[in-house]
Amino acid sequence: MSQNVLASSAGVAAQAGRRRTFAVISHPDAGKSTMTEALALHARVIGQAGAVHGKGDRRGVVSDWMAMEQERGISVTSAALQFSYQDVVINLLDTPGHADFSEDTYRVLTAVDSAVMLLDAAKGLEPQTLKLFEVCRQRSIPVITFINKWDRPGHDALALMDEIEERIGLKPTPLTWPVGIAGHFRGVIDRRTEVFTRMQRSPGGADLAIEEEMSPEAAAELYGADWETANEELQLLAMTGADFDDKEFLAARSTPVLFGAAVANLGVRQLLNVLLELAPPPSARPTVSGTDKPVDSAFSGFVFKIQANMNRTHRDQVAFVRVCSGRFERGMLVTHGDTGRPFTTKYAQQIFGQGRDTIDEAFPGDVIGLVNATALGIGDTLYVSEPVKYPALPSFPPEHFAVVSTSDTAAFKRFRRGIEQLDGEGVVQVLRSDQRGDQSPVLAAVGPMQFEVATHRLEAEFGVKTQLNHLPYEVAARTDEAGREILRTESNVEVMTRVRDGALLALFPHRWRMRSVAGRHPDLRLDD
Ligand code: GDP
Repeated sequence: MSQNVLASSAGVAAQAGRRRTFAVISHPDAGKSTMTEALALHARVIGQAGAVHGKGDRRGVVSDWMAMEQERGISVTSAALQFSYQDVVINLLDTPGHADFSEDTYRVLTAVDSAVMLLDAAKGLEPQTLKLFEVCRQRSIPVITFINKWDRPGHDALALMDEIEERIGLKPTPLTWPVGIAGHFRGVIDRRTEVFTRMQRSPGGADLAIEEEMSPEAAAELYGADWETANEELQLLAMTGADFDDKEFLAARSTPVLFGAAVANLGVRQLLNVLLELAPPPSARPTVSGTDKPVDSAFSGFVFKIQANMNRTHRDQVAFVRVCSGRFERGMLVTHGDTGRPFTTKYAQQIFGQGRDTIDEAFPGDVIGLVNATALGIGDTLYVSEPVKYPALPSFPPEHFAVVSTSDTAAFKRFRRGIEQLDGEGVVQVLRSDQRGDQSPVLAAVGPMQFEVATHRLEAEFGVKTQLNHLPYEVAARTDEAGREILRTESNVEVMTRVRDGALLALFPHRWRMRSVAGRHPDLRLDD
């Protein structure tokens, strides 16, 4: 093993300290792609806006490997975009943008240290944002809020603050406050320094915003009523105790708020500064043994995503690993915690959509893509020297079920391989039922979009046309062998085995049906 692997822990701690790993959570169309582009533009990694997610030419760096994705204009894959800004390394993890429950998105949120909640000023909190926020709350992920599209008519700023507090119970602590209502954006006042920055979009809007600090007198003169209103609102905020508090933010009880318009780069620099200044760097991570693994201990990480056939020219399987501790060096021999086997990392890459670069080293907070890592499964831990195991990734109870089959008997082997592949990647959960037999596995999903991805990929990658037969169940609960026996006597209930972990799942058409069955059988084990 090379000397470098044992790099001084001080070096690793410093590297971890200059990492910010986060994801943007938002409802589709709130501007996540635009914001990604705007952040990257600031960091000057990609040059002009449009290179990352330009709607007109999505063949840039975006993950556009699936035809389906292009047709729908959604991003089904997840990866990480890495760039540096003022000596800080920013890892922006991509979450799928569709309006569906997706297990994939939730898994991405296990790999971040903070989240940016992006709201459309005209829409406020939307359903997908609420669902994603709920995951952040469960994991106590600190959330920074960015009110986007302030260049367009929208809700009143104070009303938006009320909405955040009332609907999700997070105390909003605005760091900047807009001068000018939504649609008449003049600039923002920094609530901590009281400095007003006038903001204008650059001609064409494809470059950094034009910013100019202005004295209160000059701003009052120029913006009259808008200036006065903003200052009155600031006084109201001061009275409601809406000042930023580090501890409350890190405990996920309050959220710093910024205003802007990603499309014109307004307020994006301020967001980056907040990420640098306030968002938490990677820290010691809890392990199953109950102790936390410090960032400056030996290398460890866990797989939070697996993706096959990301790129037709590569045809491979990539396991995305979030580095939790130590220094990763390409070529390092790591141990695969789940099998105890050594695993070589010769093919470590940094991947964002179709862009790939070989990674030579990585530090806590970074994401590495391990190519052809077929032995790795979702949630698996990798480490060197000191054995460690990170908790399994949360598994969500499926709510949609369908029998998948193919009438193409010649393709049955490929069909089976395809199902195994999708199960391993966690695209869908695969269930087996004694009654239905091996030829007709049941797919279970948290959101119906997962079915579409599965059938599309079976056809595109394995050459198998499949039929889906939806089953009339909406609720699954874990049970045991005794439960399976009891449930044989009940109609409209089926017990199936989840292939991934061998769990027995009892499927019910409705929750009330589950409750009535449970009421009749007090000994029946049913866990949601
Ligand atoms: P996503 O679905 O969340 O990734 O949203 P997009 O980034 O694709 O943006 C959805 C639409 O909103 C696009 O037409 C963007 O140009 C537009 N958009 C994004 N940010 C802003 C903004 O700050 N102001 C305005 N007016 N439009 C925006």
